[in-house]
Amino acid sequence: MAGGSGFPGGPAGGARGIAVVTGASSGIGAATSRALGAAGFAVVAAARRADRLAEVAAQTGGRAVVLDVTDAASVESLRAGVDDVALLVNCAGGAFGVDPVALADAGEWSRMYDVNVLGAQRMIRALLPALESGGGGHVINIGSTAGHGAYAGGGGYCGVKAALSSLTRSMRLELNGRPVRVTEIAPGMVATDEFSLNRYRGDRAAADRVYAGVDQPLTADDVASCVTFAATLPAHVDVDLLVVRPVAQADNVTVARHPLHASGDR
Ligand code: NDP
Repeated sequence: MAGGSGFPGGPAGGARGIAVVTGASSGIGAATSRALGAAGFAVVAAARRADRLAEVAAQTGGRAVVLDVTDAASVESLRAGVDDVALLVNCAGGAFGVDPVALADAGEWSRMYDVNVLGAQRMIRALLPALESGGGGHVINIGSTAGHGAYAGGGGYCGVKAALSSLTRSMRLELNGRPVRVTEIAPGMVATDEFSLNRYRGDRAAADRVYAGVDQPLTADDVASCVTFAATLPAHVDVDLLVVRPVAQADNVTVARHPLHASGDR
């Protein structure tokens, strides 16, 4: 990016500086990009699908960067273009498959680990110098309640989100004494267009059953609000872990599937 940031108004970009968001082409990452843009960050929206990113960049006034977090060279090319980053949101990820442990496809589990855990690690490794260069930065990893409690059919996904949670806590210890905030946001059930469809390998009926009868699952915007909340607190305030679920979901396996509210939003 030209001039270090590629944003008008100097290398720091928006009033709050540059926010790099991975997984920004859909769902939570796209909503987070929009929310952070509205909150005054100059947003670098990163993912693999250029057309989707261009829409998000147009909505935020930020930049689109085509990037594959499983490809070290791709991540490195982003690093070379940014020299002062205020916030990194590692949102790229997802679940692939719901098979029981004994029947699971090891390739799917590897792919999940690669994108959810190693993808975040590659981004952190690449951008930590840029996060520290402005005198203080913030890393927000989008984990999941799956990382905090097992459920049947979740062996692979629960495992990788637990690993991401562990990585987040290790990093907070490693960075103690340096001005970098480290946050995990762990959502429960969020109704996004693609997450469950990817998990059920394109089976639309199975994907829809995940949310069937649930009165108001979380939306991508709800999670984006949580990210923005953590990101806009004063720089000395670190949200370690923010767990957020819809009211209808008491834990990973206890979900009310009937109306809770008289008429939609209160
Ligand atoms: P989506 O499937 O809509 O978003 C996944 C995003 O990750 C897409 O933008 C996708 O973009 C991107 N992505 C996938 N692989 C790569 C890659 N190799 N390199 C770069 N980007 C990649 O799902 P959600 O928005 O629902 O999920 C976002 C995050 O939130 C995930 O980490 C998910 O695990 C987590 N989460 C989701 C919950 C839910 O119920 N929906 C609950 C808890 C956590 P592209 O294909 O263009 O690269």
